[in-house]
Amino acid sequence: VRENNPLKRLNDEIFVYVAKKQKEIEELKKLEQFRREFLADVSHELKTPIFAAQGFLHTLIDGAMDDEKVRDRFLKKAAKSLDGLDALVKDLVTLSQMETGAIKMNIERIDLRLVVEEVLERLEKIAQDRKVSFKVKPDNLTEVWVNADGHRIEQVMVNLIENAVKYNKEGGKVIIHFNEEKKHSVISVRDNGPGIPAEHLNRIFERFYRVEKSRSKERGGTGLGLAIVKHILNGHGSKIAVMSKPGKGTTFTFKLDKAEEV
Ligand code: ADP
Repeated sequence: VRENNPLKRLNDEIFVYVAKKQKEIEELKKLEQFRREFLADVSHELKTPIFAAQGFLHTLIDGAMDDEKVRDRFLKKAAKSLDGLDALVKDLVTLSQMETGAIKMNIERIDLRLVVEEVLERLEKIAQDRKVSFKVKPDNLTEVWVNADGHRIEQVMVNLIENAVKYNKEGGKVIIHFNEEKKHSVISVRDNGPGIPAEHLNRIFERFYRVEKSRSKERGGTGLGLAIVKHILNGHGSKIAVMSKPGKGTTFTFKLDKAEEV
C-alpha cells in the first residue's frame, strides 16, 4: 500500500536525485583539488630547471666567462638543465593529453620482441655508461605478437628499461622476460639494483613521486615516467605490477592481449 503512495514515491525520487547531485559535487571538488595540486607541482617542477639555467648563465655574464674551464662547466650545466626542462614539458604534454582522453590508442598487431630490440639499441649508450648489461629471456625467442599501440608500448618499454638502468647499481643487470599465458603475453623488466622500500611501492606511479629526489634529478628524471606507463597500460585495459626487494632489485610486470596467428 505504501509503495503506491505518490507522495512517498516523489520523496524517494527526490532523495535519489539529491544523493546523485551530492556525489557529483564531491567528484567535482576532488577534480578541482587535483587540478590545484597539479598546477602547484608543475610550477615547482618547471621553476627548478629554469632557475638553475638562469643562475649559470647570469654567473657567466657577470664574469665567470673569463675562466675557460668554469665557462665550459657552467655552459654544460645550463644545457643539462634546459634538456631536463625539455623532457619535462614533453612528458607533461603526453600526460595531460592522456588524462583528458585526447590520445586514442592505435591498436594494431605488433611484434613486441622487435619493439624491445629497438628500445635496447636506443638505450645501449646509457647502459654502457653505467656498465649495465641487458638480457632477453627466453633467449631463443624471435617474435612476440600482441595487439597494442606500438608507439605507446615502446614508450612504456623505454620508461621501464631506462629506470632499470638509471636506478641500478654500476655493473648491474636488466632482464626483459617474456612469458605466455593462454590469451596474454606477460612482459617483465627486472633489475638487480637497490630496490624500492615497501612503503614507497604503491606511490611510485603518482606524478612527481620520487623515492630519492636527488638521484632522480641527477639522472635526468622528470618524475612522470611511471605515471605515463600506468596511463598507457590503462588505455590497453592492462595494469602494471611491481615487486621489489630492497638490496635485491625490482621487477615491473604487465600483460598485453596476444594477437591471433595470421
Ligand atoms: P623518474 O623520472 O624520477 O625516474 P619515474 O616515474 O620513472 O620518475 O619513477 C618514479 C620513482 O620511482 C623514481 O624517482 C625512483 O625513485 C623510483 N624507481 C623507478 N624505477 C625504479 C627501479 N627500477 N629501481 C629503483 N627505483 C625505481
